[in-house]
Amino acid sequence: MRTLGLIGGMSWESTAIYYRLLNEIVRERLGGLHSAKLLLWSFDFAEIAERQHHGDWHGAGVLLAEAARKLEDGGAEGLLLCTNTMHRLADQVQAAVSIPLIHIADATAAAIQRAGLHRPALLATRFTMEQDFYKGRLADKYGLEPVVPDEAGRELVHRVIYDELCQGIISTDSKAAYVAEAERLRREEAADSIIMGCTEITMLIGQSDFDIPVFDTTRIHAEVAADFALG
Ligand code: GLU
Repeated sequence: MRTLGLIGGMSWESTAIYYRLLNEIVRERLGGLHSAKLLLWSFDFAEIAERQHHGDWHGAGVLLAEAARKLEDGGAEGLLLCTNTMHRLADQVQAAVSIPLIHIADATAAAIQRAGLHRPALLATRFTMEQDFYKGRLADKYGLEPVVPDEAGRELVHRVIYDELCQGIISTDSKAAYVAEAERLRREEAADSIIMGCTEITMLIGQSDFDIPVFDTTRIHAEVAADFALG
């Protein structure tokens, strides 16, 4: 089994989910006492979020690249960046190491393609919904047509991620608001599926809340990483 290096803490709420999922998947596949071989670098998310919100992406990338190098030096054979948003810096992180970075958008797009779908509603941070690094990759590399909420919807989805989910707060009002937002994208924008495009969203909603297929990036990413580790 290969050792995975996790660049996490963004936030730790979702990194804890990755840790559980990776171990569960390895146990399911190998049985008995088997568990995942992992190294974890966990950031103080306040230091990262401050750079995000000031637009200092390069500065954040320097920190991520340094973490990636330390994980490689520690023996990691593949890297997971445990957040969709920070894949904005995937190239900067990949350039710092010689081990592969397992890209969350590639894993997600492949799952959507396998399901024969093409117009996913993307719920994520403002950065992921508004900038091109994620939507553009889904469109250019995989021919998908992601749709995102309008300005008010993006504001709501983003706020719930930072002010609630990343702080461990689960609210029934926010859950209803997320379901309504995704429903609106299905009705008005012909979305045929939903990408939970932030690794904390799985704490709030899931497949049982919807009639159309839901793609949970945290689980999909963990499964592809486990394939890599066990491959
Ligand atoms: N974990 C989140 C994501 O998947 C948001 C936190 C962050 O900005 O990294 O995008």
